[in-house]
Amino acid sequence: MHHDVVVVGGGAGGLELAARLGRKLGRREGPRRVLLVDRSVFHIWKPTLHEVAAGTLDSHQEGLSYTVLARRNHFGFTLGELRGLDTTNRTLKLGAMHDEQGKLLVPERTLTYRWLVLAIGSGSNFFGTPGAEHAYVLEQAADAERFRRHLQAAFTRSAFAADKRLGVVIVGGGATGVELSAELIEAHQETLASLDTENAFRLDLTIVEAAPRILAGLPERISAQAKTALERKQVRVLTGTRVEALQPDRLVTSQGDIPADLIVWAAGIKAAEANAGFGLTTTKANQFVVNDKLETSAAGVYALGDCAACPWGEGRLVPARAQAAHQQASFLYGTLSQLLRERAPGGQFRYKDFGSLVSLGENKGIGNLMGGLGGRNFFVEGLIAKWMYMSLHLMHHRAILGVGGTFVLALARLLQRRVSGRLKLH
Ligand SMILES: Cc1cc2nc3c(=O)[nH]c(=O)nc-3n(C[C@H](O)[C@H](O)[C@H](O)COP(=O)(O)OP(=O)(O)OC[C@H]3O[C@@H](n4cnc5c(N)ncnc54)[C@H](O)[C@@H]3O)c2cc1C
Repeated sequence: MHHDVVVVGGGAGGLELAARLGRKLGRREGPRRVLLVDRSVFHIWKPTLHEVAAGTLDSHQEGLSYTVLARRNHFGFTLGELRGLDTTNRTLKLGAMHDEQGKLLVPERTLTYRWLVLAIGSGSNFFGTPGAEHAYVLEQAADAERFRRHLQAAFTRSAFAADKRLGVVIVGGGATGVELSAELIEAHQETLASLDTENAFRLDLTIVEAAPRILAGLPERISAQAKTALERKQVRVLTGTRVEALQPDRLVTSQGDIPADLIVWAAGIKAAEANAGFGLTTTKANQFVVNDKLETSAAGVYALGDCAACPWGEGRLVPARAQAAHQQASFLYGTLSQLLRERAPGGQFRYKDFGSLVSLGENKGIGNLMGGLGGRNFFVEGLIAKWMYMSLHLMHHRAILGVGGTFVLALARLLQRRVSGRLKLH
């Protein structure tokens, strides 16, 4: 099977790119020339995984089928996992995939391409900590769903347990850890509202962070506000605490042991080990090294998003964020549009940091907006920050569903929530 453009990975960046190229080429040309490959059959925007994990977002409702998205946006889609790359013959190998019973779903296949875009994201970085298998991660929708099921079971057990408490520890005080803790508090409060007083149980939530403050990548004022907001909700925030090992029921840390019924690892990211075996230049974190045109070390192969190590000014790399994947997808859309028309692409990719917003649940958020009027930075909080946070999600939907589709979907979800409540308990 041959396609002019093959995009591997239909996440925050790859899906936007495939959808925009497909729409540009139209019904007749699109599916023939642009192919998206993903190891999953449905797309979920990764920044919502902490909500799926807490049960405050239903992944079955949130997930969008790649087959439907492909038909609507006129690109081709095939299920598969990247296993090998031959950049000399412009060929890639997709491994066989099996269902839960071990039955073959799709066989091993070979595809040829003229231009390839790698957009396969990243996974967790355990920094060699022993006992990693005892922690939950939030790498894919399936991980978040697994945690949600176990959390709901733990909530139920705790309501009938003698000590009436549940200990959850989140390793990592970055945006993911902070947002997850806010969602877990909401899930707990909503659960308590339906229980008899004698079944009410305590949620002992702890964030463990090795750095001196949480949200270390954001201004100090934002870290301090987030810490106060979390502590007001009885979350224990332990900074300057290094996790040395994970055990089934506890964490061994530089400040002593912390008992835990559930442990979530949200302390760092790393690209897949397999990336180093594709014959492209990679970093220690297994990211594909790209230049300011997002070209990898092989001709015709580009990389974007979390799996790409892209220079950003002096000695820095573009951060692994959805907004970076979105900007890189837009840049490659321009490049590939020119190449598909047999024209030479121009320009260099320049990452523009618009700041970061962190959701604190209950219609609250905090963050900073960068490079506003006169290049000044703004501090935002409360409902405005939360709305701006939600608008990032809507922008992603707009890129893959169009304005009308995004409006209908947002309205449908709002109405559905009104009727069935926020928490997914089944
Ligand atoms: C809980 C959480 C909250 C976050 N919140 C924010 C936020 O608020 N703001 C922000 O900017 N960023 C946030 N991020 C980071 C953001 O999600 C990522 O930076 C972004 O999703 C990266 O986009 P991507 O396209 O590179 O990869 P992804 O969105 O991860 O997509 C990768 C895709 O590749 C597919 N894939 C992987 N390996 C293979 C393979 N071998 N073969 C085929 N397909 C493959 C996957 O199925 C997936 O669809 C958050 C992340 C998490 C986990």
